[in-house]
This record gives sequence, C-alpha cells and structure tokens, in this order.
Amino acid sequence: MPIKILPEEVASAIAAGEVVERPASVVKELIENALDAGAERVEVISEKGGRRLIEVSDDGCGIPAADVPLSVERYATSKLETAEDLFAIRTLGFRGEALSAIASVSRFEILTRAADEEIGTRLVVEGGGKMHVQPIGAAQGTVVRVRDLFFNIPARLKFPKTDRTERSRIAALVTRYALAYPHVGFRLEQDGKEVFHASGSGDRREALSAVYGVERARQMIALPEEQQGPVEVRGFVSPPSIHRSNRAGLTFFVNGRWVRDTSLSAAVTQAYQSLLMVGRFPMAVLMIEVAPETVDVNVHPTKSEVRFREPGLVFSILQRVVRATLLGQGPPAVEIPTQWGQTQWQIQPKTASPEWEIAHSVIARSDDGPAPQVQIGLPSGKVPLLRAVGQVGASYLVAEGPDGLYLVDQHAAHERVLFEKIMAAREAGTLESQILLEPMTIELTPDQTALMEEQTKTLDGLGFQIEPFGRQAFRLRAIPALFSNVDPERALRVVVEDFEEDEKPLEGEIAERLAARVCKRAAIKAGQVLSMVEQQNLLTDLEACQTPRTCPHGRPTMIHLSVEALERQFGRRG
Ligand code: ADP
Ligand code: MG
Repeated sequence: MPIKILPEEVASAIAAGEVVERPASVVKELIENALDAGAERVEVISEKGGRRLIEVSDDGCGIPAADVPLSVERYATSKLETAEDLFAIRTLGFRGEALSAIASVSRFEILTRAADEEIGTRLVVEGGGKMHVQPIGAAQGTVVRVRDLFFNIPARLKFPKTDRTERSRIAALVTRYALAYPHVGFRLEQDGKEVFHASGSGDRREALSAVYGVERARQMIALPEEQQGPVEVRGFVSPPSIHRSNRAGLTFFVNGRWVRDTSLSAAVTQAYQSLLMVGRFPMAVLMIEVAPETVDVNVHPTKSEVRFREPGLVFSILQRVVRATLLGQGPPAVEIPTQWGQTQWQIQPKTASPEWEIAHSVIARSDDGPAPQVQIGLPSGKVPLLRAVGQVGASYLVAEGPDGLYLVDQHAAHERVLFEKIMAAREAGTLESQILLEPMTIELTPDQTALMEEQTKTLDGLGFQIEPFGRQAFRLRAIPALFSNVDPERALRVVVEDFEEDEKPLEGEIAERLAARVCKRAAIKAGQVLSMVEQQNLLTDLEACQTPRTCPHGRPTMIHLSVEALERQFGRRG
C-alpha cells in the first residue's frame, strides 16, 4: 500500500500522544517498522544509550522514492486506510506518527530503496525543519539514523539520567523481539561493541539461549507448538526451580506486539500456584495469538497496552496451557527453602547481662503517664536492654524491657542488624569478603549485563568480587563474609533483579541502598522458628544498633506496649 495521510476522522480516532518518551521508545518504533516491512534481518546500533545515535537497518521492502517525503508527515501511513481498519490491525504500526515525531526531535535521516526500484532515496531533516531529499544508491531495505535525540528539547535532554539504564532498556527490547521473531536475524551493537546476536534460524530455543544464556535456556520448558483455538499461546516458561523476586521476567507478545499487561502476568503466576513460594515469580516468554478483531491495540500512545474483547477467555486459556505444561513435566519440584531463609548470624551463647537485671528492677510507675491506650509508638532512639520471652507465629519475638512489652518483627529486626553491621564494617574498612572456593560463572541477559557493569564498583565496595567473563557473564569470586551462608549466585541475582525493579538510576547512596537490598534477602524470614539463644542474640544485636526501631527500608521493627498501657488495659489504673 502506498503511504497516505490518514483522513481527519481516522487520525482523530487514534490514541494519539507522545510516542517518543525516551531513546528506547525510538528503538521500539523503528524495530516495529522494520518488522512490518517484512525484514529478515534487523540491525540496531546505539551510542551513548541512544542519545547520540540510534540506527536501525533492515532488509525489508523499503519505501518507494515517491513516498519517502510522506513517511515523516504526521498521520502518514501505508498500513491503514479506513477507521474500520483500526478494529483489525495486523501490522505493528498503524498511526503514522512515529517517524514524524522522531524526526521533529532529532537530526534524522532515512536511506531506503524499495524492492522494485533501481535507485534509492535519502531524506534528511533536522528538528522537524525543512527536509532534504535526494536520489542515492542504496541496498534494498531501509536505514533510519537518529542522531542527537532531543537536541532541540532541553527539558528532555536531561532524561534519562544514565546512558547505561537506557542501554539496558534498548538491549531488553532487541532481545525480546528476537525471541518473538525467531525467523528474523537480530544484531545489536552498543557503543561499538556487539552485545547481542540472534541468527534468525527460526529456532526459538536458539534465540532463547542468545538472550538468557545456554544453561537457563536449556531449563526453560516449551509450550506445545500444536495448538488451535481462539487463543493460542506459544513460548517458554520456567520450571518451578527457577524463580525470581519480581514479575520482570515475564514477557508477553500479543499478535507479535510486545505488551505489558498485569492480567496476563497474573494468569501465568496463578498457573504456578502451589509450585512456587509466596513472593517468588516465574519467568516466561509467551507469544499469544488471537484474531486481530478480538483485540484493541489502539489503547495507548506507545501501543504497549492492549484490550481483549474477552479478557476472561484469554486469562483462563493462558493459565490452563501454562499449568498443563508445568504438570506435564512430572511431579512438581518440592520447594526446599533456599539458603536465604536460613539463619545467618553466628550463635554465641550469652549469659544474661547484669545491666539488664538492674534496668529491669526499676520499672517506672509514674502516674502522670499518657492517655490510657495501647501505645504503638516508635519513640526514636535506642532500645533498652531486652529479655527474650518467646516467639509468636514463628515471626515475632516477644521481649520484655524495663518499660514494658516489646513485639519484635524478626525479619525486619535482622535486616536492620545485618545492615548496620555491613555499613559499619565498610566504614571501618574491615568489611571482609569470603572468597568462594570455586569462582562461579553467572550468565545474565544483555540488559542485566549493562546494569551490572554500571554497579560493579559499588558491589566491590560491599565485598562482592565480580569480573566480566565473556559477553554476557560474570565471574563471582567472593561475597561479603556476612552473607557466607547465602547461596552466592542467588545473592548476586537478587541484586541484579533489584536493579531492574528500580526505574530511577541509583545515585548518591548507592552502596547503602544496595546493602539494604541484600540484607533484606539475607535476613531470616518470617515463619522461621528460632531457639531461645537465637532470639536473645537477635535482640542483643538490635540493642546495639544506631537506629533499631526501623528496618533499612523504613518499616518498624517493633511495637512497644508500655507498662502503663498494660495496666490501663487490665483496669489496674484509672
Ligand atoms: P506507521 O508505522 O504507524 O505506519 P511510521 O511513522 O512509523 O508510521 O511510518 C510511516 C510509514 O513509513 C509507514 O507506514 C511505512 O510505509 C514507512 N516506513 C517506515 N519505516 C519503514 C521501514 N523500515 N521499511 C519500509 N517502510 C517503512
Ligand atoms: Mg511505525
């Protein structure tokens, strides 16, 4: 179809808006154009997180010379004619907005030749100004070059904060598209380095290895290819033995379009019911196919959301297919509590301290206390000496202090203790690393690799010793000694996953935030039974903390019921 400007009524029916939020959104639009053009090979090059350069080349159908100037006009598309077409979209693009939007905020260039034309065309436009078009020799297909994105919009220039964050997003995009389009060869080069390559052989598992590393890819379970029905789901899901702390490992394509959809994530997560521990999430790359007229893709400017005509049907089929696949894999793996759940502190029996005895014997009985109510207060400052009384629900410690009863959240308290220990040791330069007997190789996805490279130094400062190992892997040589009981690979993966969850680039107190995250995972969990000695040790460690009343994330570690409050509750005083 030739490129045409959409009639007013079609244009106004489109969920218009800013398509160019950030460099990664430019990459997404350009990849989608290449795929719509029937490309068998797509190459993406970025420099400085896409801010200096984004270049996407394809060997698709190209743009006929006569149409080239139109391609950068607003609402100019070859993919849609009438408003009805909007209800059954078969292409990734349809708004005719992307190129015009990108061309207006960058130094923009297209080099293209249509399959049946002999000479190609070059179009150059700067910041949406006057365009220059000239005939030029070119290979069949299209190269779009976007330089100095946002150069004319100072407010946008500041965003994103770090090139690496954006590099990582771009890598995530390219790798996910490679998974969804195994017949298309993808290559990604960032800052002069090839970071990803998928051959386009059509073998999904090969594409999966390119993204996740050979080992992970081998473990992922394929959904059956043979399927028929209103909703077809293909792709891979993780076995119950592989899981992570968030939903970032769930990727969905609907009719070839990468979408974010919480209900799809929920369907997959539900399929793992009773196979995974609470708070752990599977990984999956799923391609969902439905009839184009049963899904509305015209919901959001970036086309990253869809609306199904029958969301319930999609949900239940997805959930059933995944569940059946998992159960077809033999008996579900029994979840053995991981090392993270185990006690990490050293148990050193201690005798009751004489200070406590003294403090305990002088319980204040002042009558001009506060109003008669249970005081769930968090007075600032240190906590007094506490005596362990016992554990409730294997989650809370009951303790007695000179001024009443304390209920201590064992997980939050241990987080605080670990956090202060690691920060103090770091300050004093006594932070010890525990060298692993054998260095571990940890494979990451290209986007995780970028995040990791950014934080290697900080991790070093916390006692991790990590070095790059090949293109997508790291060698882990040591972990902080405080975490010596923690599965090292898990410790590192948790940190990486947490980077991913973080939308904002970490700046300033990076080390502290990282330490807090690691401590959160390393701390004893709710539900873990502790001996009296362990309980008392945890309380004693907590007493020694600078900020014992909150965990490093700011949640309270304890609730205090004063003696007065207790007496009033029992009607012993007025
Ligand atoms: P849309 O994809 O919504 O149609 P775009 O602004 O992204 O809008 O692109 C405008 C038009 O330019 C497309 O409809 C298509 O005809 C043409 N085009 C853009 N990129 C390519 C490409 N890589 N190969 C062939 N044609 C392209
Ligand atoms: Mg497009």
